Amino acid sequence: MQYSIPRGTYDILPEESPKWHKVIAEFRKLVEAYGYAEILTPIFEQADLFERSSGKSSDVVKKEMYRFTDRKGREFALRPEGTAPVARSYIENRMDIGSLNKKLYYLGPMFRYDRPQAGRYRQFYQYGVEFIGSNHPYYDAEVIAILWNYLTGLGLKKLRLELNSVGCPNCSKDYDKALQSYFQPYLNQLCPDCQERFERKPRRILDCKVKECQEIAKNVPVQLDYLDTSCIEHFAEVQQYLDLMKIPFTINPRIVRGLDYYTNTAFEVIYEGIGAQNALAGGGRYNGLIEQIGGKNIPAVGFAGGFERLLLALEEEAIALPGHPVPEVFIITIGSEAQKIIIPYLNIIRGKGIYAEYEPDRASLKAQLKAANNSKAFYALIMGEEEVKQKSAILKNLESGEQKLYSLEPISHLIKAIQNKEI
Ligand code: AMP
Repeated sequence: MQYSIPRGTYDILPEESPKWHKVIAEFRKLVEAYGYAEILTPIFEQADLFERSSGKSSDVVKKEMYRFTDRKGREFALRPEGTAPVARSYIENRMDIGSLNKKLYYLGPMFRYDRPQAGRYRQFYQYGVEFIGSNHPYYDAEVIAILWNYLTGLGLKKLRLELNSVGCPNCSKDYDKALQSYFQPYLNQLCPDCQERFERKPRRILDCKVKECQEIAKNVPVQLDYLDTSCIEHFAEVQQYLDLMKIPFTINPRIVRGLDYYTNTAFEVIYEGIGAQNALAGGGRYNGLIEQIGGKNIPAVGFAGGFERLLLALEEEAIALPGHPVPEVFIITIGSEAQKIIIPYLNIIRGKGIYAEYEPDRASLKAQLKAANNSKAFYALIMGEEEVKQKSAILKNLESGEQKLYSLEPISHLIKAIQNKEI
């Protein structure tokens, strides 16, 4: 019996993991500069949390959620996204007490049952931030700035930030009516899902992936024309803050975002050149969500992006990412006495955080030197019979060939030489 990995998932192999470490480390560094703190939530939640927050008619809930019943008959789901769990935790842990504004970030796997393709997986890894507690348009811009600075800071150039406002429940009603009048004549031509959406959530038709529906929706009225005064003002102010932050954007009135809870600002960062799945990240304001799932009426704004598409984009622009680290020193011993002497020191050297390799299964000096060269180590530390007598070892710079004898006592001298690259 040979096992294979589930469709739509992937292994991050050792050659790849340093790249992941790098993009994750850069994300942490940046968001922490904006005062965001990490929150970790479980990878499964009550299924109802996602139904309530994303909307029962959303694709994510209807078609893409990994649902399961536990041994006691309770309905759970692997999280398809990170915002609802963060909002659930915010309410449950009474984070609204004390300082109202909470700046949270998360990293972790999400799960959606969808047709796998380049940039689309069934388990994928997201980074995201949530700013909870204020409706000030400055924060919409700040959240966008984090995303933009992260992506451009990694060196990406072919990015496009698209911005829209999806209004508030107040102005959405008028817009929904306008959409219904628009779609009414085409009702029979829409897919069965969209016929259902027509009644309850006509805006979802704009998100439909069926070609005929997309064709019909080509000339729909845009939400921007239906915003009320306060939504128009909010949108204008977000743009002013983005201008102040020198973040370039274009208005795309077609951005609807797939989930029910968005209000006002909605945005996406698009990257051309990685195939059909070209949204690197997306987000927006979700003022209604916390109340919708049982909390107070507390406004919030956030975004999420996927590392898989980000890594594809970095590859597309040939932006170098770290590979497997190379050893600082490769230990070479000849004979069992040398091995006995060197092993305790090897542990001390590694304990100082110096990456040291040792492959005692290679016996000859020649084989060990070859392995050291292949590893691209900076130094070899060689202990032969002569050195055993003196309790010392030869430190050899493998590039220049220069070498020097070091006593093993005190070991601090040798450690300093390696750390400071003395030869
Ligand atoms: P969404 O919540 O659908 O707006 O997703 C936010 C971001 O997560 C997207 O822009 C992608 O970068 C990433 N993403 C969403 N779904 C997937 C998926 N199935 N596979 C890989 N990345 C995804």
